[in-house]
Amino acid sequence: MPNLVIFGETMVELSKATDELYKKGFAGDVHSVALYLKRAALDEQVKAYLMCACGQDLSGDQLIETLHEQNIQSDLALRHPERTIGLYMVNTDANGERSFDYWRSTSAAKETLELLEQQGNNKLLDLKPDVFFFSGITLAILSDESRAKLWPLLEQLRDQGCDILFDPNYRARLWNDNLDKARGEFEKAFKLSTTLLPSLEDVEMLFGISEFEAAANKLLELNPTATLLIKDGPNGMLYRDETEQFHLAVTPVKTVVDTTAAGDSFNGSFLAARAMGKDVRESLNFAAAIAAEVIQHRGAVIPLEPYNKARDAAL
Ligand code: ADP
Repeated sequence: MPNLVIFGETMVELSKATDELYKKGFAGDVHSVALYLKRAALDEQVKAYLMCACGQDLSGDQLIETLHEQNIQSDLALRHPERTIGLYMVNTDANGERSFDYWRSTSAAKETLELLEQQGNNKLLDLKPDVFFFSGITLAILSDESRAKLWPLLEQLRDQGCDILFDPNYRARLWNDNLDKARGEFEKAFKLSTTLLPSLEDVEMLFGISEFEAAANKLLELNPTATLLIKDGPNGMLYRDETEQFHLAVTPVKTVVDTTAAGDSFNGSFLAARAMGKDVRESLNFAAAIAAEVIQHRGAVIPLEPYNKARDAAL
């Protein structure tokens, strides 16, 4: 059975339940990837591990419980002895526009790789993951010292035959608007990964390139053997590996409600379909169908009923 490890920060999410009350959940870009991966795949088909960090406290216990409920493996949800999980609050203004306030600058997640090292990197390596997925948000929240620990770990995983997938998910704010710094770190990630999953917008913000072919050429300059999947919302995507290159159109959604987790649900669904043995085109079409459903609902995690309908229609 394929083992997939998804690495990044999961946070407590507070969102408005009523005018006066907030409800609490757990969320984050990679958490959505793991969640949609497990929604698509049965337990006996795929094992998904979320590699993240939380405190040795009640919130930490609740995160582990939530992962169990979501059928996500918690073996790599590492407990920090002093720090706790980060938090964000979703605010909605009078026009329905959403904004986010974060409390994450001292979160346990920043030291995930230190915690792993203390427990022994073999905790990860011995799982012999088939896939290791991380994002540019994962990169952004790590300190420089911590990020330096990531690169040799990726090399070790690659040497074990693990596919390394990277979605840059560029957020200027997380890099204090220091584009040069972000670009330098992303280039390292592009070179060490085997599959690159940027949106065209990421490539435009990082390198000033806004066309599929030119974006592919730029990424191949950095990593000539990479598999590429460049996404551009309703404008479809470009896929390229060592045997084929093609564009795939998607059916534009007429009424988009909220694009939160479009890319994350796409990535998780693509990973699941590939791990279940679907070919590339089938997997891309499945991922596009799920992402199209997700953006017709509010929030990152859509209700199960419409999800299952979309899944059954697309699989
Ligand atoms: P990100 O969320 O990473 O910016 P995109 O906006 O490119 O990523 O969206 C990811 C995927 O979601 C797309 O490849 C596409 O399949 C689907 N998608 C996004 N927006 C739309 C849309 N308006 N209509 C149909 N599908 C969409």
